[in-house]
Amino acid sequence: MSNNKYKILVCEDDKNIRSVVATVLETNGYQVIVAGSCAEAEMMASSYVPDLVILDLGLPDRDGTEFIRNARSHSGVPILVLSARTGERDKIEALDMGATDYITKPFGTGELVARVRAALRTVKSVGGVVSKGVFELNGMVIDYGRRLVTIDGEEIKLTQTEYNILDFMSHHTGQVMTYTSIINEIWGHSDLNAIKKLQVNMANLRKKMGTKPGDNRFIINELGVGYRIQDPM
Ligand code: CA
Repeated sequence: MSNNKYKILVCEDDKNIRSVVATVLETNGYQVIVAGSCAEAEMMASSYVPDLVILDLGLPDRDGTEFIRNARSHSGVPILVLSARTGERDKIEALDMGATDYITKPFGTGELVARVRAALRTVKSVGGVVSKGVFELNGMVIDYGRRLVTIDGEEIKLTQTEYNILDFMSHHTGQVMTYTSIINEIWGHSDLNAIKKLQVNMANLRKKMGTKPGDNRFIINELGVGYRIQDPM
């Protein structure tokens, strides 16, 4: 299920605007998931871990700024506000809260795509994905092009699933990845045994990496919640 497309969550209650935005983004090669309320957006964000969020502020259940405040307590995902509010104070408030950028309605689709591209560039410059498709952390190197993992120079042999899990986790360093978010990414769907299956794969992966109980060198076990790879310094 792992692909190279950036995943964008579009949260907008106006169906017409939502569908225009989704179509423009898909045409430009992005994967799009949608939400129509603040609550739905929060659920989608924790289940699917988007690379970018496009957020309307006037939502039926709560104000979009609450989504921003909430997201910023645990996530650095870029948030592009798309709002009919044109006042300077509204923009400043959203940006102060941690929004990455702000577009007012009506907007041009060319402008939207340009802003999306710029916002995504801010993600690439943080985290542990170093240039030339290589990730490095505490002696572990992931060569994405060759799907090869070494620790202190020694190759470790991983199954496809184990590699996919590690690849996905390495793109979200510093964030706790919930069981559901990993399961959705790796298997595309969840079933009754999904968490057990993930835990078995993770146990094997950590064993191959030489991880001892309580060892936080590579993958941190957030008991009952998920897993996390620390941000490389
Ligand atoms: Ca609205």
